Amino acid sequence: MAKINILKPEIFNKIAAGEVVEKPASIVKEVVENSIDAGATKIEIQIYEGGISKIVVSDNGSGILPEDLEPAFLPHATSKIATENDLYHIGTLGFRGEALASIASVSQVEVISKTANTDGHSIKISGGEIIAKGEKGSPVGTYICVENLFFNTPARQKFLKKPKKEESDITTLVAKLILANPNIAFKYSADSKLIYNSSGQGLKDAIFSIYGAQIMENLIPVDFHNDKYSLTGFIGKTSFFKANRTYQTIMINGRWIADSIVNVALSQSYEAYMMKHCFPFCVINLTVPNDEVDVNVHPSKLEVRFQDSRAIFGFVYKAITETIYEDLTRKTNEEIQSEPEQPAFTLTRAPEVSKNQTVETNDLNVDFVLDSPIFQSNARGDIAAHSSENSILNEIVIEKLAGSIPTTQNNSIYQFQSNDEPVNYVPKPTQQQLIKEDIVDKDAFLSSRIIGKAFNTFVILELDDNLYFIDQHAAHERLLFDKFVEQIKNKEVSSQSLLLPYNIEVNHSEEQYINENIEMLRSLGFEIEPFGNLSFKVSAIPSLLPDLNVENFFKNFLSNLNNYTQLKDLDLIRDNLAETACKHAVKGGDDLDKEELVKLVRGVGDGTTTLQCPHGRPFVVKFSHRDVDKWFRRIV
Ligand code: ADP
Ligand code: MG
Repeated sequence: MAKINILKPEIFNKIAAGEVVEKPASIVKEVVENSIDAGATKIEIQIYEGGISKIVVSDNGSGILPEDLEPAFLPHATSKIATENDLYHIGTLGFRGEALASIASVSQVEVISKTANTDGHSIKISGGEIIAKGEKGSPVGTYICVENLFFNTPARQKFLKKPKKEESDITTLVAKLILANPNIAFKYSADSKLIYNSSGQGLKDAIFSIYGAQIMENLIPVDFHNDKYSLTGFIGKTSFFKANRTYQTIMINGRWIADSIVNVALSQSYEAYMMKHCFPFCVINLTVPNDEVDVNVHPSKLEVRFQDSRAIFGFVYKAITETIYEDLTRKTNEEIQSEPEQPAFTLTRAPEVSKNQTVETNDLNVDFVLDSPIFQSNARGDIAAHSSENSILNEIVIEKLAGSIPTTQNNSIYQFQSNDEPVNYVPKPTQQQLIKEDIVDKDAFLSSRIIGKAFNTFVILELDDNLYFIDQHAAHERLLFDKFVEQIKNKEVSSQSLLLPYNIEVNHSEEQYINENIEMLRSLGFEIEPFGNLSFKVSAIPSLLPDLNVENFFKNFLSNLNNYTQLKDLDLIRDNLAETACKHAVKGGDDLDKEELVKLVRGVGDGTTTLQCPHGRPFVVKFSHRDVDKWFRRIV
């Protein structure tokens, strides 16, 4: 063995640079994060030739003190942490103090910076060595220019990709930075061509600046809290999905994270609505107390470790599934209210109610009237305000008029207050929940007319001004699937004995996992018990799943062991149920007689949970009379 050398800082920095400065995008990330940490509200990024020849970032942040300009380039020089304890409460994006040192060791850097109370100064460093420094006029903030990346490490230069590819990596990164920092105005250009220009006026604007107008109508706002965590931002509607994950931006405490259990929770939340290999849209931020999350596990900080991953998974899953559900049901309610021939509520004069009055009713919906607008609140505390003409007012009006928003105490008691006006109330009959999605409603279906079928696959209905096409297979699949789910929810499952009991051989952690979930398996209809050491015997399976491949099922089940998923009974067999529903449903091409068609349409009309088959395909398509007129140019 050779003698041990203590490495000189120049060499050490080049090694460290390998960790931090992988490619031009990593420089942009580090430098822009420094601007964010410095409290900038405006950041401009310019890159040339994919950032290989030049990256310029200027900000209007706090600036660097003249005496700190040189130390900022020393390894482990940071103003962001001082003690080990600070490591567990990191509130800034940077903290390692190695970015500037690493970047400067493999490129040519100029920094010009000015704080509010000092004059501007500049420093120039080439390959880690200071070549110039001094006073220089500048506005408050910091300008950094990084040129000729890897000019002194030719070996690393070879690993750079083509400029266009490096540029596209930077563009993807900048999009994430813009979404993660919606209150900062960003301007980003590549080879002098403007690519993004965000206003710094909130997340909606940021999303607009990245994805354009088309995405805007497909967003559902998320705002979900418990006593420890919160999830905010936007997710995509269940009818809007993408072919890959690049439309998913997940932040944890404002920091963009490439991969975490939050991604898993997101995809599982959409499982019932999406086809396989489709990905939901999201821009969400999860807030977790700083001491419950460790961001110090990855050099470029794209990964995190949670103290309690299961709790995080459960929280995100609940937040997203409930938000989706509320969106689907809210849509239904809005529809009811916009149907003129079917008024959503009746306006009657009601006795006066004094301030702070609690109204008790057994109905789930209570309308109360305050001057002319009508406020409607449902069991979950959603609030809508309508003028007597049925046009929807926004929540700001509610606050202004009612003083405070009514809160739901439980399913039957509503409390509301008014600052100065007396409040009238009108209890209202419970509104029937209609079918979700904005395409059709239950009553409509029941009174529709079957006018034919096409290709022995699509049932054609006419109702009022609309034509509906129903995919008979997909619709039947959904009906069967919903029926199965209902049976499981009502605990109406039964078992079917296997001719030969099936033995599962397991290891210790698998044994523990099965034991933890054994009651749930039994509630689904599995008869399963320990059978000696590290082995279980399955002697019956759910009768709902007569064709179940027991071996595959348990293989799949055990593959969840390392997920953070806290499985619920339904999650466990959702795929199997979908498969069984698919097998037992009528097929496309089956020649259904009139009675069977009526039964199918009636089934859909009686209420399916969504208008998609369990694999996520839509099964109803609607054309209005107007649409058809347009086909023939009767109208334009
Ligand atoms: P870290 O961000 O981990 O602290 P860096 O090497 O990225 O380490 O930066 C070193 C220090 O330089 C920072 O702690 C900060 O004090 C200062 N600094 C760097 N960039 C800026 C900037 N744009 N505005 C103000 N201060 C900056
Ligand atoms: Mg930094």
